[in-house]
Amino acid sequence: MRVGIGYDIHRFQEGRRLLLGGVEIECEKGLGGHSDADVLLHAVIDALLGAAGLSDIGHYFPPDDPSFAGADSRELLSRTVQMIGPLGYAVGNVDATVIAEEPRLAPYIKVMRQRLADVLGIDESRVSVKATTNEGVGEVGRGEAIAALAVALLVQR
Ligand SMILES: [Zn+2]
Repeated sequence: MRVGIGYDIHRFQEGRRLLLGGVEIECEKGLGGHSDADVLLHAVIDALLGAAGLSDIGHYFPPDDPSFAGADSRELLSRTVQMIGPLGYAVGNVDATVIAEEPRLAPYIKVMRQRLADVLGIDESRVSVKATTNEGVGEVGRGEAIAALAVALLVQR
């Protein structure tokens, strides 16, 4: 078995959609970034890459590569899963936490979990998505950014 950890943070930006785990969240602003800025999927991608002993997300999907402008992060996650298969690993489980002061994410947890399981190609029971606030501390606490943490377990096929 192999375990990996992923972390990501994106600042809020006016005029953008808010996507978390491939799900559009109702919010007056979204996250800034080169791709669709799905901070949750980016953390999961880094956790999977780390578990597989590969490089980080920026290595495979460089932010200065125009072909990734506005990229759908579900596609990036799907490509990550395809990279891991030939190494002899399958995704065992993924556990993730989104840290956001706003908006309230509880109503979206179930669908984010389903969406993530779909893209990973594993049963929903192997995917966990949690949400918490930063208790008003720092940039995340002031509602300036959203962060995400993920842990992924890979099992030998
Ligand atoms: Zn990111």
